[in-house]
Amino acid sequence: MYKAGVLVSPEEIKIEKRQEPILDDNEVLVKVKFAGICGTDLAIFSGNYRVPLPLVLGHEFSGEIIEVGNKVEKGLKGKRVVRANSISCKIRYGRQL
Ligand SMILES: [Zn+2]
Repeated sequence: MYKAGVLVSPEEIKIEKRQEPILDDNEVLVKVKFAGICGTDLAIFSGNYRVPLPLVLGHEFSGEIIEVGNKVEKGLKGKRVVRANSISCKIRYGRQL
């Protein structure tokens, strides 16, 4: 289990315990170490930029790969990574678990 800050309505974040995801073959699981708060996050938080809720904010982050899918190179486990915001294909934004 891990904790996530979940935006449930504008300006209302609740801390929830969530189950770790089951990875698809081509995915990795990243333990987030640092996350930024950008203008988009602030607009979503305030309700000025509407998105489906509930939502975990913080799409700009860095962390460590702690698990890899079956088709992912095993040597990536333990590597430090940063999410590239300009590459959105095949990345599940704020994957809802
Ligand atoms: Zn951003």
